[in-house]
Amino acid sequence: MSKITLPDHNSCTGCGVCEISCLKSAISMKPDEMGVFYPEIDYDICIGCGNCQRVCHLNKEIVLAKSNKIYAAFSNSKEERESSASGGIAAELYKYARRNGWHSYGVEFNHNSNACYRELITDEDYLKAKNSKYVFCDAKDVYKQISEQLSKGETVLFIGIPCQVAALICFIGERKDNLIIVDLLCHGTCPVSYLNSHIDSIERKKGKHADEISFRDPQYFTHTYTFTIKNQNKVFYHMTPEQLDAYQIGYHKGLIYKENCYHCKYTRKERTGDLTISDFSGLGKLAPYNGSKRSVSCVIVSTEKGKKILEELNKQGHIKTDQRPTEEAFKYDKMFQEPTIPHKGRQKFKETYIRTENFETAARSALQSELKLNWIKMVLHVKEVRHLVSSIKHKLLH
Ligand SMILES: Cc1cc2nc3c(=O)[nH]c(=O)nc-3n(C[C@H](O)[C@H](O)[C@H](O)COP(=O)(O)OP(=O)(O)OC[C@H]3O[C@@H](n4cnc5c(N)ncnc54)[C@H](O)[C@@H]3O)c2cc1C
Ligand code: SF4
Ligand code: SF4
Ligand code: SF4
Repeated sequence: MSKITLPDHNSCTGCGVCEISCLKSAISMKPDEMGVFYPEIDYDICIGCGNCQRVCHLNKEIVLAKSNKIYAAFSNSKEERESSASGGIAAELYKYARRNGWHSYGVEFNHNSNACYRELITDEDYLKAKNSKYVFCDAKDVYKQISEQLSKGETVLFIGIPCQVAALICFIGERKDNLIIVDLLCHGTCPVSYLNSHIDSIERKKGKHADEISFRDPQYFTHTYTFTIKNQNKVFYHMTPEQLDAYQIGYHKGLIYKENCYHCKYTRKERTGDLTISDFSGLGKLAPYNGSKRSVSCVIVSTEKGKKILEELNKQGHIKTDQRPTEEAFKYDKMFQEPTIPHKGRQKFKETYIRTENFETAARSALQSELKLNWIKMVLHVKEVRHLVSSIKHKLLH
């Protein structure tokens, strides 16, 4: 009998569905030399049944047909918009699910514990699920629970990144009427160990403990992508991607993703969800758009189920939608066309990480030119501001 093999590190998304589907418990997820978790088969236990290969989403085509309905959409609640990454549509979908008595799933993040998917139950859960967490969040623990709820005829709303949406569909075997799926446009994620090591190094430098982090802190407006770390509700570290934070720059420049993200099969117009939500970078480029372009989401409708929910939210006055030309979404965000192209320093990052096992050292060595350039820009900016202040003072005095 030939040995069972699973997809290699260039394609495996680390969803863990093979692990939880193996009836012999022959698979365990283990970190590789880059700290990324992949399945490992214990061939002493494996009976060669092939179930792990059959459930893997990489062996199936589960995307939906390309949609021809694209909307600019946002929550009518100022508070939801301001505290969400773009238009607060995810928050409105969760509220819709709650009103209808459905189960909802999303990602919660606590530093030094795993960033993971959970069923959202309390008000605090819903609050924590808001906004983007730029890291890979484990979902395998909720797949079984969702499957059980669906089998009992209960309705579930699952919002997540496309590879994990695909993994869920494969785990439960098919799309179900009582499962509402919303996928996010996604350019990549990295192992949570990089983030934890980055935060640890900041904690050491600042001598403070991080008890809350945000990648797009609403306090600094989410569109500025300001990364903040707080202790007892007080910000003690904040950086935009244009400043000197190696994690932020490494993430947004495509340096530090899991290897498979550079080969992602879901960066395309055909989507995995009934609805897809993303930022709207092309808004107003192909047809005039009246209104602020900030805090607006792009929503792609791929099924009748998705259409009905969006229409109801609109009719009930919770959100505002405006149909847009399809190409305004597809043409202006590369994530509808191809996977992220690795940063030019990717090889250096990998080699240094493998040698030192230190995220900070590896990221900084690969980002030297960006860090220098940002530093120069910041110094010039400080000089400009000083110059402005002194010229205002001069004018006032004379
Ligand atoms: C890793 C990642 C990459 C993204 N890349 C792009 C991109 O390239 N282009 C683009 O236009 N939009 C991208 N987005 C989507 C965008 O940032 C917003 O999430 C989206 O516009 C929805 O905004 P919102 O205001 O409706 O809700 P938000 O409040 O921003 O969204 C909250 C929802 O996102 C989920 N979520 C947050 N982080 C994660 C995570 N790591 N894994 C799974 N689910 C998560 C929450 O559970 C919740 O359901 C990305 C999001 C993530 C999480
Ligand atoms: S072939 Fe069967 S027994 Fe072997 S790892 Fe896969 S699921 Fe488990
Ligand atoms: S099921 Fe998921 S974790 Fe297992 S091989 Fe496929 S992509 Fe990788
Ligand atoms: S880029 Fe693709 S593979 Fe990577 S996290 Fe996003 S959806 Fe998953």
